[in-house]
Amino acid sequence: MGHIPSEVLEQAAALVDQADRVVCLTGAGVSAESGIPTFRDAQRGLWSRYRPEELASPEAFDAHPGRVWRWYMWRLGLVERARPNPGHRALAQLARLVPHLTLITQNVDSLHEAAGSPDVIHLHGRLDRFRCHDCEQPYALRPQDREADRPPSCPRCGGRVRPDVVWFGEPLPPRPWQAALAAVAACDCMWAVGTSGVVYPAAQLPQMARERGARLLVVNPEPTELDPWATITLSGPSGAVLPALVARVAARRSRAESRGGA
Ligand code: NAD
Ligand code: ZN
Repeated sequence: MGHIPSEVLEQAAALVDQADRVVCLTGAGVSAESGIPTFRDAQRGLWSRYRPEELASPEAFDAHPGRVWRWYMWRLGLVERARPNPGHRALAQLARLVPHLTLITQNVDSLHEAAGSPDVIHLHGRLDRFRCHDCEQPYALRPQDREADRPPSCPRCGGRVRPDVVWFGEPLPPRPWQAALAAVAACDCMWAVGTSGVVYPAAQLPQMARERGARLLVVNPEPTELDPWATITLSGPSGAVLPALVARVAARRSRAESRGGA
């Protein structure tokens, strides 16, 4: 983190400070430091012989429902054991510093909520919620389902129960997507954190913000497809960059308050 020059961090904090409406889009990278692998990282252990596309799709669920179910139960265990990292916590603090913050995530974990962020928009659903693949009826997971070799049956229609996440080839749920579009249309500063910018349509959001004249901050240890659109790129892991950036925003706010006060 030491390699981000102090003046670049200060420029980024100034952009945030000038903004009334901030939107933050997060991807799998923000949870990497909590021990949740991104899809681009090799899958661990038992699952390393499958590509996520061969497990996270309606075709895979039709062909191998038991395998897909066991994979999701394994991932559920991972996210349940994970704790929010300083990046998640910095975003929760940011919500208390700026007049309006909308947090949009592509992640299916709930680490933003665990860190205290309110009203998180989940574009790709959540691993800890379940529903019927056929009739969409919500399903409450039972302890024995976690050990099962096949998905539970829907009590309403007998269809197969699946995680309430968006699979490859499926459309995004319309309500979170519309909420994300509305927030982006009204924002004057957008952050793209830990996202490669290759998964559409989520990757469209930072570009739309730019086209509407908002400033774009990109936080990522690697180059991304969004870099050409970025006003400022902050290169580093989000667990280090976000706390440093949010501390600068907080310092500017308290300086402004002490000038304005008394
Ligand atoms: P992605 O396309 O958002 O790419 C991950 C990005 O994170 C990369 O650009 C990488 O450089 C960056 N990164 C890695 N370590 C980082 C760090 N410490 N700090 C900041 N950035 C870091 O995500 P993906 O892994 O390709 O997954 C695509 C989709 O799959 C996700 O959008 C999500 O729906 C799902 N997914 C979710 C989770 C989760 O909920 N935690 C995990 C894996 C995949
Ligand atoms: Zn059903």
